[in-house]
Amino acid sequence: MKTDVLVIGDGLAGSAAALEAARLGARVMLVSAGNGSSDRAQGGIAAATLPEDSPRLHALDTLAAGAGLCDPDAVSILTSAGPETVRWLESLGVRFDGGSAREAAHSRARVLHLRGDQSGSTLMGYMRDAIDREPRIERKRGRLQSLLGDGICGGAVFDSGMVAAGSTVLATGGYAGLYDRTTNSRISNGKGILEAARIGARVADMEFVQFHPTAFASAHTFLITEALRGAGAYIVDEDGNRFIDELLPRDQVARALAMHAGQAYISATHLDAEVLRRSFPNFMRNCRSVGIDPLRQPVPIAPAGHYTMGGVATDLDGRSSIEGLFAAGECARTGVHGANRLASNSLLEAATFGRRASAAAVDSPPVHARPARRTRLWRRGDLTVTTVRRLLDSAAGVLRTGTDLESALERLQRGSASAAAADAAEVATMICSAALARPQSLGAHQRLDAPTLIAV
Ligand SMILES: Cc1cc2nc3c(=O)[nH]c(=O)nc-3n(C[C@H](O)[C@H](O)[C@H](O)COP(=O)(O)OP(=O)(O)OC[C@H]3O[C@@H](n4cnc5c(N)ncnc54)[C@H](O)[C@@H]3O)c2cc1C
Repeated sequence: MKTDVLVIGDGLAGSAAALEAARLGARVMLVSAGNGSSDRAQGGIAAATLPEDSPRLHALDTLAAGAGLCDPDAVSILTSAGPETVRWLESLGVRFDGGSAREAAHSRARVLHLRGDQSGSTLMGYMRDAIDREPRIERKRGRLQSLLGDGICGGAVFDSGMVAAGSTVLATGGYAGLYDRTTNSRISNGKGILEAARIGARVADMEFVQFHPTAFASAHTFLITEALRGAGAYIVDEDGNRFIDELLPRDQVARALAMHAGQAYISATHLDAEVLRRSFPNFMRNCRSVGIDPLRQPVPIAPAGHYTMGGVATDLDGRSSIEGLFAAGECARTGVHGANRLASNSLLEAATFGRRASAAAVDSPPVHARPARRTRLWRRGDLTVTTVRRLLDSAAGVLRTGTDLESALERLQRGSASAAAADAAEVATMICSAALARPQSLGAHQRLDAPTLIAV
């Protein structure tokens, strides 16, 4: 199969990229393996749309969250594009709830919601309708196996076949789904980033992983929204005693929970039952599905891998370091998040940079890479995907030490039981070695054996 622009991944970044490339007249093939994080987003999308707000204020908040590691030009593009990106989404038929909320470390009300806490699934419904109306976009189901080329990218190989493309936009999401406890889909395993690295694209900032503090503590994790703490829920220990200020920023709560000896719980038993039913239907439904009545019982919680800042390094137009390959959304490291993402900036980034990347892709000369399948050798051993996930949780979780990272890296080199485990081990190696190479605590990367750097 052949196309002008191949977009891999149909979350918000891939959908925005496909629609923009089609609008510019390109033939687009949009290939994905199922829903990633976009459909799970609850909070909403940040944009400075109110008169008392401005892109500059939005940029200042974003830079502060990023702990000195953001690229100021990328941040400026992101926040300046906010209002226009919202208008573009509306032009596709997207209907926001109306009004903006002040959330997390945003200094102004600027988070737009769709159907309350169902922002992601509602937004993606509109995006899919827009894609269905666009005749230049051909949708396919397929799981990425490898990218075509070496030091250049001319398409990709999927389990469903090969696609040769003039340019390729990678929009495969992040790698928080590689953690054992995660709020992500398991498809968010860093495969796209890994394949980009294998053909020579530069990858950066893999050590920066954001953990959500309040995930249900079980194998079947679900996210418990921060708004519940905002509404007055307590975080308590096994004896029902509070041990932390629940309204601290997300990463500080995650750290306190990681340091807490014993099980922690979120308790909403003292809150009004009617308010809980009306405002937190997802929370009520999820708890009941695992046999917990949150009106009577506290709910066990633990931090979980949630959002990843690292990925394929790009310029301001989504160009990777190799010809023919572009990246957008959570798989890209554009520089907008630095060491820590400001909540609700990622949907804005996905839509804004998805469009920019595909505009650059359409504009660039088509690449012809030899359509050869690559044979990959990996060392046989006993590592399974589950072992890799657990290693990441224990060595590259909320709190890290050099000793733990070194022993995880040593374990990751010992060989894998399957090709999937070998891929997982390679992504985990990228995370652990980047974390080991940064002997300071900065933003989302916290080393127990290293000082905190204060951004000035
Ligand atoms: C529970 C949760 C809540 C969140 N809430 C918010 C929020 O309120 N606001 C906000 O701004 N951000 C939020 N985020 C983060 C945000 O949702 C993501 O950063 C963003 O949606 C990423 O979009 P994306 O298009 O880059 O990737 P995704 O939406 O993850 O899409 C990735 C795509 O790549 C495809 N793919 C992956 N691997 C392969 C492969 N090997 N082969 C083929 N296709 C592949 C997938 O099938 C999918 O189509 C939340 C995340 C989670 C998990």
